[in-house]
Amino acid sequence: MINRPDIVAVMVGVAVDGPYSYRVPEGMTVERGSIVAVPLGPRLILGVVWGPPKDLIAHNRLRDIAQAYDAPPLSEELLKLVEWVARYTLTAPGQVLRGVLRSPEALDAPKPVIAYRRTGHEPEKLTPARLRVLDCLMDDMAWPKPALVGASGVSSSVIDGLERAGAIEKLEMPPPPVVMPPDPEDNPARLNPEQQKALDDIRALDVGAFGVALLDGVTGGGKTEVFFEAVADTLRAGRQALVLLPEIALTNTFIDRFTRRFGTRPAEWHSDMTPVQRAKVWRGVLDGTVRAVVGARSALFLPFRELGLMVLDEEHDGAYKQSDGFTYHARDMAIVRANLAEARVVLSSATPSVESRNNANVGRYRHVTLESRFAEAAMPDVSAIDMRINGPEKGEWIAPALAREVFAALDRGEQALLFLNRRGYAPLTVCRSCGHQYQCPDCSTWMVEHRFRGVLMCHHCGHEMRTPKVCDECGDTESLVAVGPGVERVAEEAAVRFPDARRVLLSTDMGSHAQLRERFSEIERGDYDLIIGTQLVSKGHHFEKLSVVGVLDADLGLAHGDPRAAEKTFQILTQVAGRAGRASRHGKAFLQTYHPDHPVMKAMVSGDREAFYAQELLAREAGGMPPFGRLAALIISANEQQTAMTYARSLLSAAPMAEGVRLFGPADAPIAMIRGRHRVRLLAQSGKDFDLSGYMRFWLASGEKAKGDLKVQVDIDPMSFM
Ligand code: ADP
Ligand code: ZN
Repeated sequence: MINRPDIVAVMVGVAVDGPYSYRVPEGMTVERGSIVAVPLGPRLILGVVWGPPKDLIAHNRLRDIAQAYDAPPLSEELLKLVEWVARYTLTAPGQVLRGVLRSPEALDAPKPVIAYRRTGHEPEKLTPARLRVLDCLMDDMAWPKPALVGASGVSSSVIDGLERAGAIEKLEMPPPPVVMPPDPEDNPARLNPEQQKALDDIRALDVGAFGVALLDGVTGGGKTEVFFEAVADTLRAGRQALVLLPEIALTNTFIDRFTRRFGTRPAEWHSDMTPVQRAKVWRGVLDGTVRAVVGARSALFLPFRELGLMVLDEEHDGAYKQSDGFTYHARDMAIVRANLAEARVVLSSATPSVESRNNANVGRYRHVTLESRFAEAAMPDVSAIDMRINGPEKGEWIAPALAREVFAALDRGEQALLFLNRRGYAPLTVCRSCGHQYQCPDCSTWMVEHRFRGVLMCHHCGHEMRTPKVCDECGDTESLVAVGPGVERVAEEAAVRFPDARRVLLSTDMGSHAQLRERFSEIERGDYDLIIGTQLVSKGHHFEKLSVVGVLDADLGLAHGDPRAAEKTFQILTQVAGRAGRASRHGKAFLQTYHPDHPVMKAMVSGDREAFYAQELLAREAGGMPPFGRLAALIISANEQQTAMTYARSLLSAAPMAEGVRLFGPADAPIAMIRGRHRVRLLAQSGKDFDLSGYMRFWLASGEKAKGDLKVQVDIDPMSFM
């Protein structure tokens, strides 16, 4: 409790170190968690009452809280989460709090709806119009004015007249909720015995206590059906549920499935919503009228007050890592929040992260498995096509063996998918005469040709130029060639080889989210025979007629010197192969590779994922890599490479000694320049039980402050070494 109610500490939503003290003006009551507006310098800023003041400042020097909003206080659990995330990620707590107060429009109490009901008093003059209105109000229900006008077909002056005559009266009703409450009994799944066992396993985690289940089941095994039942349990227990999806997977399909199961659409939370929609959902979550949310990673910071369950679908997905602003991993933060909220977490995936698999292995998470596909669907057969021996002709990208399988699938009236995880037409343009290679002027990357749009484009900063016809360097007119394939080039080859197939090209730059969702629905309906796509198609979709998947460059992700390269490649290959044969058709997947003996390819072909996890865990342990050790990165950037490097060296020499901490660098980051800023990286590695965040904070405080155009970005638990 706040023991000096006249002065309180308020955390303001700006990047400062901690809360500031404010006076509570006469007549205002606040408590910990109350949302307020306070003056800060010349501005009014949103903030949250954090508790009693830390410092004793003379009363008369303090400023008053300007406004306390008519909203329930944020939950204790959420306030603690803000502090935890701030400490862990080395972010100012006010900046994390700003991520919570994302919807300022939501802070005023929702406006009541004006409605009318009968008083029982009969008006003296009863016209037919008046009678129609009174008939509508027969059942003593109150009707909002627009609904009453609509139903009775009268003008609104008739209603005003009835009110003046005392026959009806105005009252204020709470506004309707943004979505109807989901009904856990509406349409429960009939689970098969294996699915039921998985659900029972999840149920063995107490509702109302912290616990994590890793729902580790093959693609198409019915994980969604199972975790929907866990959502239903949570709703029955009177608590709120949050289902997180990787952003792009917020498809109509998932929303439709939720709607079929619970009889109503879920509240959604993602970047495509309007501020008004966001405000309604945010406020509903806080007020408790919203019981279930389906959202992208930032939904993690919604102001739930009765959170009972978080589900992370495709928990291994890279989209859960937030990398601009403050960097956090939604999976890890969800576990933290669940711990604070005494809630359950279900992590669902066919290819769990190595971290989660390890937590399950050591018993920290309950390991719940689904080993076979639902109904008569079987797992796809995976084979490798050795590109050294059986590759395509020069200038082509589809190997003959794969082309034959695609033909066969099309002949049977089934769908095929050609997968290449690279947008655009070609990753590099070179001049055959002078050797000039087109590079981004602001990044150390090649310009990717997007032939469909007629541009060369940098995938890091978005810089674009018209595709040149003449070499900029030597002026030769016939000499520019595209090197290597992007997905558009594969589509071009497919058009020549499979001219009669109805083809669709899917990648993130082929349209808005809404347009892409529409394409997915069309594919599900069977409007296309041949799908050519990037990573976008690998996630979560259920295409019943799809029976053949060809991966054109299975080695693509292995090239980076990234400690997670093998894991990421295994995950994406499994996910994309798993699109095949999800219904009764038997599926086949083909991996075009130059490294058929690589452990990832071998695990894919043999279907022995356990071998993959075992081997990957061993390698990680030997290298002290996550989850057996911790990593934190500092990316130092500046306009001049020299400035960044000199500063990084001075930071390194200021690094405190600590047992078990190893420092690497400074070295140019793998992408050494982005948006004209040169990037240098320092990396710290420690044992698992070491407070690496604390160390990094101490380190940065010991070093020289970054001045001028220098910028330091801290990335705790980096997911890639970009
Ligand atoms: P996963 O999430 O494991 O990839 P899904 O939950 O999407 O699997 O299930 C795959 C398909 O099988 C879906 O079309 C789903 O509706 C269907 N399915 C799975 N389990 C059941 C069940 N018990 N009853 C009816 N349909 C099911
Ligand atoms: Zn660029």
